[in-house]
Amino acid sequence: MKITFHGAAQNVTGSKHLIETEDGFRLLLDCGFFQGHRKEAEILNRNFPMDAKSIDAVILSHAHLDHCGLLPLLVKEGYTGSIYATPATMDVAAAMLADATHIQESDAEYLNRHLQKNQVHIAPLYNEADCKATIDRFVGVQYSRLGGGWTKLSDSVRFKFYDAGHILGSAVILVEIKESGKTKTIAFTGDLGRTNAPILWDPEPIVENVDILLSEATYGDRLHEPPAETERLVREIIERAIKHRAKIIVPAFALGRTQELIYVLHKLFHTQGFPKIPVYLDSPLASHVTDIFKKHRNVFDNQTWKDFNASHDLPLMFEDLIYTRTTEESKALNEMHGPLMVISASGMMEAGRILHHLKNGIENPNNTILITGYQAENTLGRRIQDGVSLVRIFNRKYHVKARVVSAHSLSAHADQVELLEYIGAAKGLSTLFLVHGEEQTMQTFASLVRSKFSTISVGIPKRGDVVEI
Ligand SMILES: [Zn+2]
Repeated sequence: MKITFHGAAQNVTGSKHLIETEDGFRLLLDCGFFQGHRKEAEILNRNFPMDAKSIDAVILSHAHLDHCGLLPLLVKEGYTGSIYATPATMDVAAAMLADATHIQESDAEYLNRHLQKNQVHIAPLYNEADCKATIDRFVGVQYSRLGGGWTKLSDSVRFKFYDAGHILGSAVILVEIKESGKTKTIAFTGDLGRTNAPILWDPEPIVENVDILLSEATYGDRLHEPPAETERLVREIIERAIKHRAKIIVPAFALGRTQELIYVLHKLFHTQGFPKIPVYLDSPLASHVTDIFKKHRNVFDNQTWKDFNASHDLPLMFEDLIYTRTTEESKALNEMHGPLMVISASGMMEAGRILHHLKNGIENPNNTILITGYQAENTLGRRIQDGVSLVRIFNRKYHVKARVVSAHSLSAHADQVELLEYIGAAKGLSTLFLVHGEEQTMQTFASLVRSKFSTISVGIPKRGDVVEI
C-alpha cells in the first residue's frame, strides 16, 4: 500500500492523508483547510492535490476546520462516495461547514465589491449548495465501544472508531487492510486530547495491534498544566471580578474550549457558597455547538456524571448562562456593569463581536481578558498575550490596561507525556509517522520517541511525500 501525506505534514493545518491499497482502493483520511498566511493558504486550498472522482471513501477524524474544511470542495470537484464520521462529528461538522461557507461567500462578496481595475472576479471556494451536498454524504458510525464495531469499505478494507478525547465526536481511526494474504493495521490519531479533561473521555487505547501509526504531535515539545488548574484559575478570576464589579472578557473558540469553560463555571457555581455571576455566551456559532453537545450526552465521560448526576443537572446549562442571539443583545452588554463574564468570538481576536467588547473594556484595569487557546503570530490576540501596551481596534488606538491571563490548562491537545504514553500503549507498533506539528517540535519529539522505543521507526513526512509499506 501507499500513503501520501497531502497536508498537516510539518505544519498544523490542511490535514489530508491518502491510503492506496494494492487492489486500487483509495481511502482519504480527513480533508482539512490550510490556514495561516493568507495568500499561501489560499493557493493550497484552491489547488486540490488529487482527483476527487478517484477517491473511494473518506473518513473524518473530527470537526475542526483544519480537518474537515475542504470536504465541500472535494464534493464540488466530483467526489460521490460516503464521508464516514461519528454521529456527534456529523452534527458539529455541519455547523462548522455552514459557518465556513457563509464566511467564504461574504468574504468573496466583499472583495468583489472592492475590486481594482484589471482584477478578476473572485469566486468563493465553495457555496451553500456544495456545503449541503457534502452534509448529505455523511454516514454516521458510532465509537466502537458504543457498538460501532467494524465498518466494511471493500473486500480488503474496514475501519472502526476509537475515542480521541479531543473535541466532541473526535475519533482515532483504525483501518485494517488485507494485502497479499497479510493483514495490516493503520491508526490515525486525528487530534489527540488530554487525559482528565472536562466532559470528554480520555483518549482510548487501541485493543488491536497497530502496525503503523499516524500521530499528531502539536505539543510534542511541551508540558501542559493539569486540567484541574483551570478551576483554580477561573475561581480566582471570578472572585476578583466580584470584588471590583468588573468584566471578564473571554475570546471564544466556538468548538471545544467554550464548552469546557462553561462546564468548569457550572461546576464552580454548583459548589455550595460559591458566588455566581452572569455569563453571557455572545457567539451564535458557539451557542449552536453548545446545543449540539447537549444532544450527544451519551459520549460524555463518567466524571461528568459524577459531577452532575446527583441533581440531574445538564452539565452545559445553568441559570446564569445567557445566550445572546442578536447584535442588539450583544451591544447591550457594553452598557452593563460587572461582575459579569462575556464569552465571544473570535478566539484570536481578529474579527467578530469580541472586538466590541475589547474596545469597551480593555482600558479598565479591573477587567480581565481570559485567553483560552493558541494565539497565532500577527494576530491581535497574540499582541495582547505578548503584553503590548497599545493596540489598534477598528482604527483607533487603545491602551491595554485590563489584566491579561492565559489559561494554558485548557488545551485540547495531548502534551509530550500524554503523546508518549499513547504511542507506548500501541501494541506491536513498528512504524510511526508524525503529522500535524511544527517541524522543530516534531524533530524534538521524534528524538525522544527513538530514545524511548528503539524498535519503532519514526518518520516526519513533508507535504506530498509518498511512502510504500
Ligand atoms: Zn482538532
